[in-house]
Amino acid sequence: MLRFRNTLTGKIEEFQPLRAGEVRFYYCGPTVWDFGHIGNFRSAIAADIVRRYLKFKGFKVTHVMNITDVEDRIIAKSQEAGLSIDDYTAKYIEALWEDFDALGCERPEIVPRATRHIPEMIDLIEKLLQTGHAYQSEGSVYYRIASFPEYGKLSKINFAGNIAGASDRVDTDKYEKEDARDFALWKEPANANEPAWDAPLGRGRPGWHIECSAMSMKYLGETFDIHAGGIDLVFPHHENEIAQSEGATGKQFVRYWIHFEHLKVDGETMSKSKGNYYTYRDVAAKGYSAGAVRYFLLSVPYNKQINFTFDALGGAEKTVVGLRDFRARLGEAKTTPGLNDVLHQAAVLAAAEFEAGMDDDLNTSVALAVIHNLTRVVNTALARKKLQEENKRELLELLERFDSVLNIFGVEQHEMLDSEIQSLIDGRQEARRRRDFGRADEIRDELAGRGIILEDSKDGVRWRRKQ
Ligand code: AMP
Ligand code: ZN
Repeated sequence: MLRFRNTLTGKIEEFQPLRAGEVRFYYCGPTVWDFGHIGNFRSAIAADIVRRYLKFKGFKVTHVMNITDVEDRIIAKSQEAGLSIDDYTAKYIEALWEDFDALGCERPEIVPRATRHIPEMIDLIEKLLQTGHAYQSEGSVYYRIASFPEYGKLSKINFAGNIAGASDRVDTDKYEKEDARDFALWKEPANANEPAWDAPLGRGRPGWHIECSAMSMKYLGETFDIHAGGIDLVFPHHENEIAQSEGATGKQFVRYWIHFEHLKVDGETMSKSKGNYYTYRDVAAKGYSAGAVRYFLLSVPYNKQINFTFDALGGAEKTVVGLRDFRARLGEAKTTPGLNDVLHQAAVLAAAEFEAGMDDDLNTSVALAVIHNLTRVVNTALARKKLQEENKRELLELLERFDSVLNIFGVEQHEMLDSEIQSLIDGRQEARRRRDFGRADEIRDELAGRGIILEDSKDGVRWRRKQ
């Protein structure tokens, strides 16, 4: 029985989805103003483990990961570069998929982009205005926190006092607000060059928090099962999402909240603003494999901080090489017919312990310890030539099952066939004809993630493989 800590209740709870057999799961994805750092990927991999383990347990999973492609840094950077925000973010979205695939994360079913969901955000803001949860002031719209008495129920922050400084991600809007705690839902552009959308609310752009409420409810319904993100998002982002969604619908927004602890460097959170970060590309350029990075980032359970060092990454590299060698030796080992009962018992025990560890708040370090113990037992059997045919089949299947969750032995990705590429391109053209630009972008992003570059020309769409 799967249990994990629900930030909302502060307790370890048994997980039961709202609809039997089906899990609706939202993960707050990246802001594509730059390449992702490996701290971001700690969270992305933790979300991948949640997703994969739910599937392992037999659930059908609908996983949504948003891409934040409009916010202050993106606007500033794109203006510096003289590009539209779409042209500016395209490079980082492409890079995101390259890194995501390399690090062995499964693609979420739905990857909505903020800029493609402005009408949904406007609808939600209008609902909040109608219900008294929002107000207009000087061309912008703010959420009225005083209208939502449960504000603070996720973060357990006492809002009686001054909240400034409670988090380094508190909105620092300079505009006119009724109360310092109120946050922007819709912002009037500061100048004519800023990207803005026409709306009954006035020309403007969305605040950061509204996108996740609008997009999660669009794809997963007003009440869904699991919402996850890094620990930095508890306040204010997720607190604000609850206020927006529950304010508008009057229903519970999310049943289980899971927050991933951070990757640290010398005791400080890895972050762009602190300058103490490495992108996946930085560590790959130093010769570390994607498998080692993934192993390192999942070797500590999601609810504990990890400290980054190159030594630890080097250790992970050796471990991953050892595990892959082990599987290769097992696959090539000569066997006698039949089943060795001692080895069979070891496999049965490992299967049970792996599941018990993962059931217990997704404890990946227990899951890895189970695999290491099993390799020791099997190595001894191999050295003594005790491995029998049925054990070999059973053990290889078991490793594959473990790897469906952890993906550390490495599944080689097949190169896309020309016919697969062409059918995706046809699907994209068809989506464009329907004026479904969101879907068309998704297909382009998917192809980009698999190393296929599209070039639109007068004569149609041409493609090439990235070198
Ligand atoms: P951002 O691109 O800043 O919006 O962040 C994308 C995701 O990475 C969010 O879920 C963040 O909470 C998470 N995140 C940011 N920094 C770290 C870190 N040092 N360790 C783990 N997760 C992080
Ligand atoms: Zn979010």
